[in-house]
Amino acid sequence: MWGYPEPISRLIEQFMKLPGIGPKTAARLAFHVMTMPSEDVRQFAAALSDVKTKLSECTICCNITEQSPCSICSDPTRDTSVLCVVQDAKDVMAMERTHEFRGKYHVLHGAISPLEGMGPNDIRIRELVHRLGDDTVKEVILATNPNVEGEATAMYIARLLKPFNVTVTRIAHGLPMGGDLEYADEVTLAKALEGRRAL
Ligand SMILES: [Zn+2]
Repeated sequence: MWGYPEPISRLIEQFMKLPGIGPKTAARLAFHVMTMPSEDVRQFAAALSDVKTKLSECTICCNITEQSPCSICSDPTRDTSVLCVVQDAKDVMAMERTHEFRGKYHVLHGAISPLEGMGPNDIRIRELVHRLGDDTVKEVILATNPNVEGEATAMYIARLLKPFNVTVTRIAHGLPMGGDLEYADEVTLAKALEGRRAL
């Protein structure tokens, strides 16, 4: 590619697989890697590899974890009657930073998006429904992102959970519309959680 030596063009191609990285940035990063000390490069490569080999999905909440069940699912002090449903593992961390939520989570790993070919079966909705089988959960808080896909996903899940004996709530607006949950500051997020309404 572009007449670079093969190892460099191969690295550029790998960097281009990352979101938001175009050919120019990829080339800049690849050439930067060449100037790094060997030990730093080795650690970088190991960190990339470890993130796949050492992490897996929690068998209960689908959060990313080093051991399953994850630390939140296995924490006996957390309220098992409230489930907060979020799109991404990063959203769990955002919620945890508010220190307002003491229930448990369910991570969907995405949102319903017909444009991107993501249907209900492509995210962890089946796993969520499965968790409601034994009547432990009394409230499901839908904390998907405040954008079109997040709203569509919340509406879909709310409809799906109608036959279950649970209260389904949606976190309040006030979160910037079109935004991502993970970028909301703690106060806004805590307020959105507090102002949730029944669907
Ligand atoms: Zn878990």
